[in-house]
Amino acid sequence: MSGADCQDLPSLRDHIGECRRCPLGETATQVVFGVGDPHARLMFVGEGPGKNEDLRGEPFVGAAGKFLDELLGSIGLTRAQVYIANVVKCRPPGNRDPAPSEIEACTPFLARQIELIDPVVVATLGNFATQYVLGTKAGITRLRGKLYRVGGRRVVPVLHPAAALYNGSNRSVLFDDFRRLRTVLERDDAPSPDSAPPTEAETGGEVLETPTRVLTTRSEDETVEVGRRLGALSRPDDIIGLSGGLGAGKTALTQGIARGMGIVEHVPSPTFNLLLVHPGERTLYHFDLYRLDAPEQLDDIDLWGTVEAGGVSVIEWADRFPGSMPEERLDVRLEVIAPSERRMTFVAHGERARVLVEALVAGQDVRS
Ligand code: SF4
Repeated sequence: MSGADCQDLPSLRDHIGECRRCPLGETATQVVFGVGDPHARLMFVGEGPGKNEDLRGEPFVGAAGKFLDELLGSIGLTRAQVYIANVVKCRPPGNRDPAPSEIEACTPFLARQIELIDPVVVATLGNFATQYVLGTKAGITRLRGKLYRVGGRRVVPVLHPAAALYNGSNRSVLFDDFRRLRTVLERDDAPSPDSAPPTEAETGGEVLETPTRVLTTRSEDETVEVGRRLGALSRPDDIIGLSGGLGAGKTALTQGIARGMGIVEHVPSPTFNLLLVHPGERTLYHFDLYRLDAPEQLDDIDLWGTVEAGGVSVIEWADRFPGSMPEERLDVRLEVIAPSERRMTFVAHGERARVLVEALVAGQDVRS
């Protein structure tokens, strides 16, 4: 009997046994088979067990696993609602890369796991999983952000969560990848033709875009004016997240938003205030998260609970805790590109934000 004959996950696990089909079985503590809902619509495929996984017998239980849980939470899922497995089921010594022969020996088990679970979407985490599932040698940075279809299944390559542990700027990339993942999960289940498997030179795939628009202003007055138009276009309960370094123009943009909302009182930089409230026909809630250290603090002080229905929230330094931000929002990233020149990148999360930014750009009276 081969793994392909196994009709459910427990019998496949029994079939693998105390495996020695490749050298990894000699040094590993145990086979790390996989965990989660055996009928999950979303299955994650990682590379291989690390030290903690080897000891516990479960994939993604270390720091990267904790971050994976946070990423799952950001799209409203828990670990129990998905399935997680790896390309190789035994830990490569010293966390080295698995050898091609080891991948070849082990991946029939993964292939059968995928068949038995039959997920709608497979999310591949990092290079090895993506290259195996897509049958390519292209790297994850070229493949992520796109949707592929293999064997009637949707495949979404995303960065490996460990990449954010080594480089903090990858955190927001991963939250973006997961937002796209949710979009793919929410699409209807009508079968689609396979896309051509990507080659190393031609990565193919359907680009998964988050609607993004860019405006450039060449004075503080122009930045305030963009804000004024944004404020005038805003609707009750809109949420606008601002990011950008000190002096990038976040407060100038907020002052414009307040002006566009008809708020007459002065809107200062929040500086040492976590929240300033500016009453008006629609109340402006002006947050500044600069001094918070951890996302849990947002819950501890119930910051969102202070926002009353009908207000408009502007959140400075929203990029510090992307996983804790409200899902439906407009993000604005401000960059200094010359002493008085600012580039504003608008990223719409959700339909309302998309409508808002399209209206802003369509009627713009600043240079774009
Ligand atoms: S890595 Fe896979 S093939 Fe190699 S010993 Fe472990 S279970 Fe067997």
